[in-house]
Amino acid sequence: MDDDDCEGYLFKVVIIGDSAVGKSNLLSRYSRNEFNIHTKATIGVEFQTQSMEIDGKEVKAQIWDTAGQERFRAVTSAYYRGAVGALIVYDITRRTTFDSVGRWLDELNIHSDTTIARMLVGNKSDLENIRDVSVEEGKSLAEAEGLFFMETSALDSTNVRTAFEMVIKEIYNNVS
Ligand code: GDP
Ligand code: MG
Repeated sequence: MDDDDCEGYLFKVVIIGDSAVGKSNLLSRYSRNEFNIHTKATIGVEFQTQSMEIDGKEVKAQIWDTAGQERFRAVTSAYYRGAVGALIVYDITRRTTFDSVGRWLDELNIHSDTTIARMLVGNKSDLENIRDVSVEEGKSLAEAEGLFFMETSALDSTNVRTAFEMVIKEIYNNVS
């Protein structure tokens, strides 16, 4: 949104990361306060629109979720087009998903032509007993790459709203 005459803002935010890290559940927790044990395979991309207020203005985020294309490394440029924010998600119980973060950042870079507010998200923090990636590792990767960082749990809701809203506020700061 770059029109001063408009009443509010609409920002596109994408959620990326390996399959089964919890992307869809983070979005359903944030937008509908719902959590699903079973992954549902849907076709095509989906987004949810969420509003928040910043500086007395209504700010809307159109948050895009992959429909499982990431399994086939087939997230298309249409998915990224126009995105001004991104959550790059890994699963703290599966190191391979943390090792993939660099690849997701590369893909984001290739497909974006503007400043993108980026947050690294270590999801499933409720599964402390089977943790495979330490908080420190997450933090230092985020620092090295210049990303915000947060651990979340879509299951028990920890930090989910905070993570999305930090990204949206940063986008707002970038454009205003
Ligand atoms: P996606 O493929 O990245 O969209 O991942 P999903 O949202 O479909 O989640 C994959 C699996 O992980 C599902 O069985 C979810 O119930 C589970 N899951 C997602 N988030 C969490 C979480 O925060 N904690 C736990 N314990 N399980 C989660
Ligand atoms: Mg999904």
